[in-house]
Formats: sequence, C-alpha cells, structure tokens
Amino acid sequence: MEKRRIAILGSTGSIGRQTLDVIREHPDLFEVELLTCNSSFVTIAAQAREFDANNVVICDETRYKVLSDALGDTDTKVFAGMKSVCDLVTSDRVDIVVASMVGFSGLAPTIAALKAGKVIALANKETLVAAGSIVMGLSRKYNAPILPVDSEHSAIFQCLLAAQGNKVSKIHLTASGGPFRTWDKEKIAVATKDMALKHPNWSMGSKITIDSATMMNKGFEVIEARWLFNTPVDKIHVVVHPESVIHSMVEFEDGAVIAQMASPDMREPIQFAIGFPERLPLGNKKLDFAALGTLSFFEPDLDKFPALGLAFKAIEKGGNIPCALNAANESAVAAYLKDKIPFYGISNVVRECMERIHFIAEPTIDDIFETNKQARSMADEIIVSMGKKA
Ligand code: MG
Repeated sequence: MEKRRIAILGSTGSIGRQTLDVIREHPDLFEVELLTCNSSFVTIAAQAREFDANNVVICDETRYKVLSDALGDTDTKVFAGMKSVCDLVTSDRVDIVVASMVGFSGLAPTIAALKAGKVIALANKETLVAAGSIVMGLSRKYNAPILPVDSEHSAIFQCLLAAQGNKVSKIHLTASGGPFRTWDKEKIAVATKDMALKHPNWSMGSKITIDSATMMNKGFEVIEARWLFNTPVDKIHVVVHPESVIHSMVEFEDGAVIAQMASPDMREPIQFAIGFPERLPLGNKKLDFAALGTLSFFEPDLDKFPALGLAFKAIEKGGNIPCALNAANESAVAAYLKDKIPFYGISNVVRECMERIHFIAEPTIDDIFETNKQARSMADEIIVSMGKKA
C-alpha cells in the first residue's frame, strides 16, 4: 500500500488518539498531514511533535498563541478557527480525512472534505444523523467515499463484502445495552452522571458514553446505517448483546447471517477504515472463544430507554427532524453532565423539541444549520424550565 497522508479532525479525543495509536504501529504506511482539536493545546502539541505533523489547527482561537509558542521550534504550521479546518482538509496533500470531532460541529469540515473528493473515515455519526441525505448526496456527487469507523457500521461494511451483489434482507445492529441494561426504571431515573459514565465494555468520550447509557447512541446508529447502506429503517433491527463481541450482522434472503466479531477495541474498525482494503497487523486483544463461553442476545427495552424509540420516530418522520433530535440531545446531554436535569430529562427534552420544531420535509444545508440552532435554543429553554420545577 502506498503511503497515505492523513488529516485527523478531533485528534485529542478518544477516536483521534486511537487513530494515532494505529499510525504509531505503522509509520511506514501513514503520514500525519493535519491534526485539529477544540482546545486541548498541550495534547495536540505533543501529538504534532511525535508525529511530525505538517499542520495543526486549534478551533479555540484564544489558545492560538500558546500553541504556536509551544511548537515554535518545529516545522509544524499552526492555525486557529473552524474556517482553517475547513480550508486545510481540502489540501492536495490530504488523502484521508478521519472525521472524529464530537457532535454537530463535525458537519461543516466533513462537507468541505467531501466537496474536495477526499476519502472520509467517518467516526462522527452526528453528521449523518443531522444531514444524512445531503452528506450521502455529496459523497456520490464528488466521488468521495465514506468508510465507517463506528464499530457496528464497520462490522456491517465488513459483512457486506460477502454479499457479492446479493440482496440484504436485514441488518442486525448490536447494542451493548450500556451500564443500565439490568437496572429497573426507578433506579435509572435517579442515576448520576458518574454511574452513566461507567460503560461496561467500551472506553469512549463522555458525550457518546452518556448516549450509550440512554441508548440514543443506538438510535443514532440506526439512522447512520440507514444512510450509509441505503437501507430502509424497517430492515434495521437492534439487538442487545451485552458481551460486545459481535459488532453487527447482515442477513441475506436465504436466511444466512454473516457476523463480524472482534474484541471491543476501536483500533480494529479504525485500521479497517484507514487501511482499506488491507487489514493491518494490530496489537489488540484477540478473541478466545472458549474463555468467552456464552454470547447472549435480548430485545431492547423501549420503555426503559425511550431515546431509542425517539430516534426511530425521527428517521421515520425524516426531513429536519433527525437534525432536531441530535441538536436537542447535545444540549440535554451537556445539561445532564452539569447536573441540571435528571437522566430521563434527556429524552423528555428531545421529545418536546421534536414536537415543537417547525417541520421541513426536504431541508437544504442552510435549513439544517438553522434547525440545529433553533432546536438548541428551544432545548435550552426547556432545560431552564425543567430546572425550575425540580
Ligand atoms: Mg458504535
């Protein structure tokens, strides 16, 4: 494989750091062209130095000087602000863009990279939740392939390599069930953020860990799968699989099911996306089936995890509603992490925003940005009134 030049958007986050772990194991295959972060200047300075990055961008412009000083003795060029991210991803020197920013903020740079025809390794599922139809349209128009990094979607992508043109009858999207899978509803209702942040299988950033506890993450993944694999939602089934060994499955019309398995470690799907179609040797834990013993499967409980049902409702309604779902969820999760609302406050805020937002059946990209803004301020109002009641 020819050396690939990589841009990592959100390099100081969990996916960004694990992408650099993969690159560290294969310095002959990858070159770091661009690293970006929101504000973690100490971490990104160390990354830029270790990987000899050509460019870094810090989105928080107030941190520009301190980062620039920290890298003053290196060849790395330092930039600040989101506009610089959107400009630099389009450079001829970038082959693959790892889109691993958190939340809606990942949409604008991903659109810029798509329009420049880059290969996108997509970890930022909110991009497809908020603007799936537009993003997939750009991917086709500019011949910019999107390779999934999300473990379930990487699994489906890997299973689909066995399709050989045959029709898929069902996608089985596996879910760990999160930390509250076996709790009753009364106990979940008063769960603190520290309890919600303890994911049983995966080590991830705080936003996605809360989304896993509410199962909104799985709802987002249904929407993500709908767009990535152009599959109707009624063919996507969520199955709870607490061991997180099977990362998802694809069923064909003859009843055959192809599953993808690996230890729960994000470096596996990351290497498959940035190394595709090659599989790179990886120092991850390999599966020991006898030690595993049993794999178990359950129906998801929509009464205990209403966020999952809301996500299904949002994609069935379509238009700008999934964008509102995502925006309200981002505001609500931030409020929960600041102890402003209780656990089920998250899904209540999202439900109310979905009902109140002005429906647009075929949103333009401007409509998406406007819906995002409106749903956030609507969510913030609801959160304030909720806080007063509590
Ligand atoms: Mg996932």
